[in-house]
Amino acid sequence: MKQSLMFIPTLRDMPKDAEIASHKILLKGGYIKQHVAGVYTYLPLAYKVIKKIENIVREELDKIGCSELLMPALQAKELWKESGRWENYGKELMRINDRHDREFCLGPTHEEVITAVVRDSVTSYKKLPLALYQIQSKFRDEFRPRFGLMRGREFIMKDLYTFSTTTEDLDEWYGKVRQAYINIFDRLNLHYRIVSADSGQIGGKSSEEFMVLCDIGEDTIVYSDSSDFASNVELCDLEEGAPSPDGKGVIKHAKGIEVGHIFKLGTKYSEPMNLMFIDSDNKKKPVIMGCYGIGISRLIMAILEQNNNDLKVLWPESVSPFKVQIIPMDKPGTLGYEKAFEIHNALEQKGVEVLIDDRNESAGVKFNDADLVGVRTRIIVGRKAQEGIVELRDALTDERKEITIEEAKELF
Ligand code: ATP
Ligand code: MG
Repeated sequence: MKQSLMFIPTLRDMPKDAEIASHKILLKGGYIKQHVAGVYTYLPLAYKVIKKIENIVREELDKIGCSELLMPALQAKELWKESGRWENYGKELMRINDRHDREFCLGPTHEEVITAVVRDSVTSYKKLPLALYQIQSKFRDEFRPRFGLMRGREFIMKDLYTFSTTTEDLDEWYGKVRQAYINIFDRLNLHYRIVSADSGQIGGKSSEEFMVLCDIGEDTIVYSDSSDFASNVELCDLEEGAPSPDGKGVIKHAKGIEVGHIFKLGTKYSEPMNLMFIDSDNKKKPVIMGCYGIGISRLIMAILEQNNNDLKVLWPESVSPFKVQIIPMDKPGTLGYEKAFEIHNALEQKGVEVLIDDRNESAGVKFNDADLVGVRTRIIVGRKAQEGIVELRDALTDERKEITIEEAKELF
């Protein structure tokens, strides 16, 4: 891929309205563009990363037997009346009227829609359990959208819903999804903690959040210094230094970014919305549900917060927009530039995701921009290209070694 064709509108100066590193990088590096407060365009570089994150999520959920679907963002008021949330959700619900003055909302979450979808086709225990998910834009009219993608009014979420006949089966799904989340966040190279949480607007009995540990996080985590005990401060407000409720160790505080939230809903939606099934004993019972979210667009920021050094980006390889970046030091028309393209074409032909900085810019500009693109493996094509030699650079370890052009073509 030619960098000149990719549309990466980098900014010369540091954007003034960005307060945290990840937001600065996303704006300065040409990853996102603000439309209005809390609403963004994901430019090509960011969208490549998003698709990588989404695919990791898909792989781990498909592995445990979940199926992907896509529900409408535009949702009828009648459904939200059934669950009681048309009145209760409050001002965060984006409400709109159509030309016939019928009322709708833009989905902030999809419990109502999925419950209605399953209700109309599942009536017997023989058709259960089910686990259905989607990756889609959600709308929440946040009082204070801020930190770029961290708290948007339109943002990308993965939401999964499970439907069980017994609480034991719900527990089993909950456990499987929890493990899938662990796999996902491990593959994203994140440093995080699982904490007990308040169930908020979604409701249900118990829930846990996945918190990426980070000083700029908006949530406060209370945890024990010598056991697994960890909770959102909203649920368990203990002073630092107090004994841990599980009797092991003392309480510490840390800041976290909520990237995932898993809930045992039970019958919170199935009862009012009449999602029933006939069990093997011929009795009619409400379906027992779970719901599980991941903040896909927020994750980009969480990953960046943990993977930048003084605003120099280094994407974890699992989500890196490219596998390798080629940087010709010389301008177009030179032998070095031609050799750089030779390597690019050979790699691209093998299906390697390769970016070449073909722009008519100085080496200094190219190196600075490369630190915003954040690809770990870089091939620098300089003077020695005439002798058939290029430099292979590992931006993580800063290890540099000379290799031949032929070796460069065979790198992956
Ligand atoms: P928060 O407490 O941060 O407002 P929430 O608890 O209301 O989030 P959930 O309903 O649990 O959010 O949504 C699932 C996931 O979607 C969250 O864990 C978070 O990662 C993401 N998310 C929620 N709200 C936003 C938002 N306004 N912008 C970006 N991501 C969000
Ligand atoms: Mg939450």
